[in-house]
Amino acid sequence: MKKPKAKDKINKLRNQLNKKEAVKFKSLILKRKNEILDNINHISEDTLKKSQKDAAGDISGYAYHMADVATDTYDREFSLGIASNERQILYELDDALKRIEEGAFGICEDCKSLITKTRLKAIPYARLCLNCQQKREKK
Ligand SMILES: [Zn+2]
Repeated sequence: MKKPKAKDKINKLRNQLNKKEAVKFKSLILKRKNEILDNINHISEDTLKKSQKDAAGDISGYAYHMADVATDTYDREFSLGIASNERQILYELDDALKRIEEGAFGICEDCKSLITKTRLKAIPYARLCLNCQQKREKK
């Protein structure tokens, strides 16, 4: 039995995402990108303000301040953690835009079948169909 070439299959599937849909997903991805960029800016501003406050903290408030240090540090690390998560998503979104250009958007990287539109609307940067995603998570 002859195995179908993966490339042929992609070419066939390429037509599944029509131009109108490609434009729709593109704007969805760009919107997500902007939201995340906004978020990151807010977080950085918050973190910056806190650092400035810490640096300006006077001696009289020292004891009081010490009690707060633990939470402050935690908050800061927490904020930075979120920011790095969001940066990862930004990267994924950029990659999804590239896949739209290449016509590979919405095609599962593992089984080469189509990722459902519902899934793509929820996670426009999804690289895997739900089945393959679940298989990977089990591993
Ligand atoms: Zn798959």
